Amino acid sequence: MIMARPIIEPFKIKVVEPIKFTSINERETILTEAGYNLFQIKSEQVLIDLLTDSGTSAMSADQWAGIMQGDEAYAGSRSFYRLEERIKHLTGYRYIIPTHQGRAAEKILFSVLGGKGKSIPNNSHFDTTRANIEYSGAEALDFLGEVGKDPSAHHPFKGNMDIAALSQWLDQNAQNVPCCMLTITNNSGGGQPVSMENIRAVSQLCRSKNIPFFLDACRFAENAYFIKLREPEYANRSVESIAQEMFSYADGCTMSAKKDGLVNIGGFLALNDERLAASCRNVLIITEGFSTYGGLAGRDLEAIAQGLKEVVEEDYLHYRLIVTRYVHEKLTEQGIPLMNPPGGHAIYIDAKRFCDHIPPERFPGQAVACGLYLQDGIRTVEIGSLMFGKTPNGDFVPPPMELVRLAMPRRVYTQSHMDYVIESVIDLYQKRHSLRGFVIESEPPFLRHFTARLKPE
Ligand SMILES: *Cc1c(COP(=O)(O)O)cnc(C)c1O
Repeated sequence: MIMARPIIEPFKIKVVEPIKFTSINERETILTEAGYNLFQIKSEQVLIDLLTDSGTSAMSADQWAGIMQGDEAYAGSRSFYRLEERIKHLTGYRYIIPTHQGRAAEKILFSVLGGKGKSIPNNSHFDTTRANIEYSGAEALDFLGEVGKDPSAHHPFKGNMDIAALSQWLDQNAQNVPCCMLTITNNSGGGQPVSMENIRAVSQLCRSKNIPFFLDACRFAENAYFIKLREPEYANRSVESIAQEMFSYADGCTMSAKKDGLVNIGGFLALNDERLAASCRNVLIITEGFSTYGGLAGRDLEAIAQGLKEVVEEDYLHYRLIVTRYVHEKLTEQGIPLMNPPGGHAIYIDAKRFCDHIPPERFPGQAVACGLYLQDGIRTVEIGSLMFGKTPNGDFVPPPMELVRLAMPRRVYTQSHMDYVIESVIDLYQKRHSLRGFVIESEPPFLRHFTARLKPE
């Protein structure tokens, strides 16, 4: 469906931040100096930055007002109680543990629940979740449904857990499972939502085996709105009540407030089990700070409390999801290969098909990402062979997909910014055969995509 009228952003602009225009010649020099690695470019050299939706939100006037009201007391801060009340209202969980970001909540939870010999299933573990589980000595397993693994397949809930596979596996392994997780929306699988029916089914399965069930709730509001749009029985429910129902099926959650908290830093762990909460608080005090601030300033707690209110407003969520859908539709009309359907927080270009003349070992995704930057100053991120390709015994093993992610910061860009992005991608697609692959000049032993230097082949 084509939007008949322009998208109206549900806000007006009170504070502006200039973005800098550069020439194509300047960008050519910048790219060469950065070794064709977009993580090595200064943000000032970027016109439209779609690298990530994490911590890049614009805060509201009410959030900035909250910043001034933050209570910076070491213990018992008023701002903590405000945040605690908001999270309790939203999730229904009894114990609220603030942390400086999502991975700190994961670190705390898995230093208590993880350890050698344990396994933790999920639809798809996000990379920091997997890393924290594996660091504890435990094993992180993915049980994403088959349809979620096919980038071109259309399905309303491609983040759903494969209940049959999980159930079968639990029959043999439940005794080694300290908790089960479900990531909503499924970030590693393209920001695809999980249905309420599926959340309920995972919950029933876990309860039947006495396994605690945790949500990785970073994008809970986007997931709740997808449920409202796509699961008929929820069409007339408020997003907040849908979110409350989602949380009610689990025993706790980890959260990065840098996503659906609409803030630049923060997170939390929330849970019902009193003894587990006490152990987690002990780790919190050692690693993050006292239990009423958890590595954050009082003002940050205020901003999160307010952000968690604004993020379930339907005018906001409507705008949020309509923007990704708009970009997805415009690009699809021009035949640009994308991951289907659009997720909540990002659009993914299928670079294998976009650059079918560049083999995986020459990084087709990086060719598209560098092409967009060079042509128009747009920064995106490659999620393909540069990020995940391996060379275990000299032979290159590519990951299943070569993607370029256009992540959408929240409340930051307008429809005209998006129109510019759309035209740029279409332009590049028409010139795609002029794009060349890359070879690696130097790379570090771990997480090479952040610092590797490349050169055109
Ligand atoms: C971002 C993210 C995390 C980690 O949160 P940070 O705040 O970046 O530490 C965990 N899980 C998912 C699904 C995420 O998107």
